[in-house]
Amino acid sequence: MLLGILRFNDLKVQDTMTPRADIDCVADDMSMREVARAVLTSGHSRLPVYRDNRDNIVGVVHAKDLLGCLDDTDTLETPVASIMREPFFVPETKRVSTLLQEFRSLKQHIAIALDEYGGTSGLITIEDVLEEIVGDIEDEHDKPAQDEIQDLGDGVYEMSSRVYLEDLASVGPAIESEDVDTIGGYLTMEAGHVPAAGEVFTHKGWTFTVLDADKKHIKRVRMKRADSGDKTPDQQED
Ligand code: ADP
Repeated sequence: MLLGILRFNDLKVQDTMTPRADIDCVADDMSMREVARAVLTSGHSRLPVYRDNRDNIVGVVHAKDLLGCLDDTDTLETPVASIMREPFFVPETKRVSTLLQEFRSLKQHIAIALDEYGGTSGLITIEDVLEEIVGDIEDEHDKPAQDEIQDLGDGVYEMSSRVYLEDLASVGPAIESEDVDTIGGYLTMEAGHVPAAGEVFTHKGWTFTVLDADKKHIKRVRMKRADSGDKTPDQQED
């Protein structure tokens, strides 16, 4: 905790927020019934509400506010916009220590982080901030962390593309980059395109195989020591 506090002053919102692509949100014209389903699927208790696209967040809907509508079937069919609350916007460059004070004084638990152009950059809650000091806080609804590196034995590991390069170094190669933070970002940068499932790379004696990806980003990656065999023809050397 003391180390967490020492790091805390230098941390910015962008260092700890949930990135834009991972935000579970709903459209402002969705009905309360649809939003209630979205809350169930998401598992989060507050969902940002957007108009037209994710860069235009116009509110935040709280699961507790939805509960009040459950016994009225007419209200359930009305748009969620009527119960959403004002979003609390912060620049992604704001210091987390300042944000913690603001969360407390404004009695807010969630903020939408904006990039320098006013687009949505991420979402940050008081839990994200406190975890920087006390470490992971898991609640009853938290899904198993996808960012963990799974050790499959024999020098083979599987992980989310979101694993940080600094965390990868504890079991695999030490990769340093000024431009990207995650293994998915690194492989995409090296390839010069978003790699498809099945693409293979080697780096510092390790093989990275893309297990799952869509058009916009890699999702899962397998990493193994390259000397443990099975090189494939489309392998790229760094
Ligand atoms: P909840 O209990 O509703 O999940 P927390 O404040 O405990 O909310 O946050 C837990 C984690 O979930 C944090 O990392 C936070 O950034 C993330 N989170 C909260 N709401 C959302 C959301 N709507 N979409 C994606 N991630 C979210």
